[in-house]
Amino acid sequence: MSDTLSPMNAAPTHGSVVVIGGGVMGLSTAFHLAEAGHGDVVVIEAEQLGSGSTSKAAGGVRLQFSDAVNIELALRSMDAFERFGTRPGHDIDLDQVGYLFLLTNPDDVSTFERSVALQNSLGVPSRMLSASEAGELSPFASVDDVLAASFCPRDGHANTGAVVEGYAQAARALGVRILTNCSVTAIERDGDTITGVVTSHGRIATDTVVCAAGPWSRLIGDLAGLTLPVDPVRRPIWYTEPMPGLPEHLAFTIDFTTGFYFHGEGQGLLFGMADPDQPAGFEFECRPDWLEVVGEVAARRAPHLLDVGIAGGWTGFYETTPDHNGIIGESSSLRRFFYATGFSGHGFLLGPAVGEVMRDLVLGQTPIVNVSAFDVDRFHLDDIRREHNVV
Ligand SMILES: Cc1cc2nc3c(=O)[nH]c(=O)nc-3n(C[C@H](O)[C@H](O)[C@H](O)COP(=O)(O)OP(=O)(O)OC[C@H]3O[C@@H](n4cnc5c(N)ncnc54)[C@H](O)[C@@H]3O)c2cc1C
Repeated sequence: MSDTLSPMNAAPTHGSVVVIGGGVMGLSTAFHLAEAGHGDVVVIEAEQLGSGSTSKAAGGVRLQFSDAVNIELALRSMDAFERFGTRPGHDIDLDQVGYLFLLTNPDDVSTFERSVALQNSLGVPSRMLSASEAGELSPFASVDDVLAASFCPRDGHANTGAVVEGYAQAARALGVRILTNCSVTAIERDGDTITGVVTSHGRIATDTVVCAAGPWSRLIGDLAGLTLPVDPVRRPIWYTEPMPGLPEHLAFTIDFTTGFYFHGEGQGLLFGMADPDQPAGFEFECRPDWLEVVGEVAARRAPHLLDVGIAGGWTGFYETTPDHNGIIGESSSLRRFFYATGFSGHGFLLGPAVGEVMRDLVLGQTPIVNVSAFDVDRFHLDDIRREHNVV
């Protein structure tokens, strides 16, 4: 993707808002601020746009959450994904094949029944299904031991690179300055006020920072003298060679007990499974035999997957918080330091709505969704707010 400013150029000397991070969160925030007429926004990205977690995501977009705030943010985001072609104006390959959670644990069935009732009360068309109904929606899944499933037909997946490009192009057209290959190295403050951001390409005078640095957010918090409890946890993902008999509309299928998931990707499948024992830290690789463990689960849950070869894969970092919910808000000790991070594996799908919320917070408006429960201070108060539907 081309840059508005060449990395050889100096950073602008002033910005009314400096957004740190050029992933879905930072670019959505910048787009929504610029669309609201707030000029002079600068986005600083250490590498390439979307090169962090956003480009590593499975592209899943869904409305099925257990937390009401996540459901509201996801609904607002799904509306935006459905209209992305006109606002900001880009094709994102949205494929609403539905998310199908396969449940084999009686406690999970009860929890999902409660979540579906909550989702329905907020306007989400999700429903519980029998095992045989689930098998019809996901013919590659073996459902003999499945007790029940939950399904929402508005869920699906989209192209992460296209979403990044759509927001970046529209933001630039509205005057946002975007620097890539440019790192934030210091955040200057005078007491409780921000005075500037130092980058590898010069200092930007500003009183407003938005931290959208995904898995690197704790480091950005450190630069500002704040604690952002976000830890990077490496997650692997793979894709197969062409899969004979791949249905045109294969539900995004999740074996909730193990976290094994798959969805159609081109002519093959994209699949993955989180290692619950993966330690947090950029330095830790995945277990070398993890693909074998995933293969054992696939042999039970989706045996046809073993009929084709693996064409490739990658790893990326979940940006995890202690309760698997994002942290969104303004610092209580450093004025106009805003943060939107820690989405623990569901940040791509929340990007549009969180960008709107950040716009509102920066402009001092009432946010379109009340996110006060996601303030970072909840951890000081031991007020954790666990999201159950995380894989
Ligand atoms: C394997 C995998 C599968 C996933 N699947 C899904 C899914 O299906 N659906 C979903 O919703 N989510 C999914 N996620 C999670 C999703 O990718 C993230 O929640 C989301 O992309 C976070 O976006 P972000 O913009 O906050 O962070 P990022 O995309 O990581 O952007 C942060 C940016 O900040 C930059 N940065 C860091 N430090 C600095 C600095 N000092 N100066 C300047 N820039 C800096 C980084 O280079 C990076 O580009 C998945 C994640 C992984 C790893």
